[in-house]
Amino acid sequence: MNYTIIALNALKDNYIWLIHDGQNAVAVDPTESHVVEQYLQQHNLSLKVILLTHNHPDHTGGVKALCERYAPTCIDNFVQQLADGQMLNLADLDLSVKVLLTPGHTLEHVCYLVDDKHLFCGDTLFGMGCGRVFTNDFVAMYSSLNKIKVLPESTLCYPAHEYTANNLRFITSVDTNHLYYQDYAKYLLMKLSSTQNSLPTVLADELHYNLFLRCNDPKVWAMVGTKCGELISDEENCFVALRQLRNTF
Ligand SMILES: [Zn+2]
Repeated sequence: MNYTIIALNALKDNYIWLIHDGQNAVAVDPTESHVVEQYLQQHNLSLKVILLTHNHPDHTGGVKALCERYAPTCIDNFVQQLADGQMLNLADLDLSVKVLLTPGHTLEHVCYLVDDKHLFCGDTLFGMGCGRVFTNDFVAMYSSLNKIKVLPESTLCYPAHEYTANNLRFITSVDTNHLYYQDYAKYLLMKLSSTQNSLPTVLADELHYNLFLRCNDPKVWAMVGTKCGELISDEENCFVALRQLRNTF
């Protein structure tokens, strides 16, 4: 399938990602049906598949209406119980889609890796951040992020929210070596001011600059420890402390 991936803006800061080949389309987390329908109609597309990363209403809001209208295949770990590494066979679409189980934000959260290159990561990884741990299972969330970290560095990541600018502010409040972020921050803010969209983000950049992916670095333990006033001496505690700091930022 020769396809393009586009971002549809929805709600306050959500993205609905749409993959299409000029004829058939896949929607990821279609929270508002009218946004998707409008695009499908304008471009004469037929909706074949819905991929859901998790079952929060700001991701699933449009599913019912879209299913009634287009009868797509709906992939939802909340309903079907997918397996880690499972390859999805999507009717009519020549796409390779691999499931990564990524619990932490919710228990059923999954990411979808399309053609070993495009990662639809829902509320697990954000530009310069990660999702809230609603399950309180920080160990699970941390290992979900580690699952993403080992993908090829050229992987393009498509989170479901535009939180990058705020996440950047948070990260540079913890790591005060602003020089380190200067060029990347400039690039991000330029991209945001010209397109209002910082995504997708390249995994290599996240590995460099996203503190949530750098919790295995003792230098990061020191900065997080200073910020929260605790002694941090391992990567999981570093992740918990960092995520808790972000909750109250
Ligand atoms: Zn969510």
